[in-house]
Amino acid sequence: MGEKKIVPSEYIPDAESRTITIAGKDYLEVNDAMFTFYRRSMGELSPFFLALRDEKKVLGCKCIKCGMVRVPPFMTRCPDCNFAPTELVEVEQVGVMNSTPPITYFATSIFQHMAPFGRGRVILKGADTALSINVYTTTGILVPGLVRKGTEVKVIFRDNRIGGITDIFCMPTSELTKEQIARKGLQESELDWGAAVEPGLRVADDRDVAAYKDALEAMQAIAAQMNETERARKDIAGWKRSIQVKTTGGQFAIEIDDGDFRIEEKALEEPDFVMVCEDAKTLLDGLAYRGALTDSIIMKKLWISKNMEFTTIFKLDRMARSLARAKKT
Ligand SMILES: [Zn+2]
Repeated sequence: MGEKKIVPSEYIPDAESRTITIAGKDYLEVNDAMFTFYRRSMGELSPFFLALRDEKKVLGCKCIKCGMVRVPPFMTRCPDCNFAPTELVEVEQVGVMNSTPPITYFATSIFQHMAPFGRGRVILKGADTALSINVYTTTGILVPGLVRKGTEVKVIFRDNRIGGITDIFCMPTSELTKEQIARKGLQESELDWGAAVEPGLRVADDRDVAAYKDALEAMQAIAAQMNETERARKDIAGWKRSIQVKTTGGQFAIEIDDGDFRIEEKALEEPDFVMVCEDAKTLLDGLAYRGALTDSIIMKKLWISKNMEFTTIFKLDRMARSLARAKKT
């Protein structure tokens, strides 16, 4: 069923050799491998992770003396009560952010597919300590200010759980129905990820329309160049997206189709996602390699309707860079 490997195949070098010359002598160097995979036990934390995976429950440990509840249950004895024993208890799946989560846009390769994500600490009802947790939103791209210290959030469970802390994440309860908030074990597939509310645009005047027409023409010229640049085509190999772009002066579509890149003035019936930016020049500058689109998102100049489509924005930035480099050489 094509399960994901720990090391993706693109990181495994080919079996090959080369000659290196040191002080006039030739030496043969070969690619070899050293494997260090191993199994490790979750030890005393096993009940916590098993409960996440199998029962969609969040457990803590409660001191039988002082009653303090620690989540996750990282101690089986209470250090405040002369190491009195603790017992496992279930806590609620709604809580309050203990701090404003910083957002990771550029993660290491292991976590890049999950970016952008907030990383914060939540104090769940019934718990006395804060649990580290990733933060997501269904309102479009995750930007600073959406979740802050004090925001009420709910724990959501991944559909595919392996018994790790990334089996869960949280999102603001303001994005959920009363019924969803009340129900324990709510899963990601039960959320409406396509219901993001687009930011409004003001009514266009003649100057807006003229500026949009100019930007569109320039972008179409860049798209044509990208189509002829092998490097840029490679950046979107195997990728297929129809994107509706809305700007003050007008709207258009970006079509990405396994190496082909087109910009057309049309409205799509069912776009994969929507981009909204006041000024079409924001997008033009990104494609022309005059400032990254990822930065425009972080600066809230460019909005996208699906958080996980940040990956596509990443690819557009890479295409812009590839075209700029191809022009240099
Ligand atoms: Zn205690």
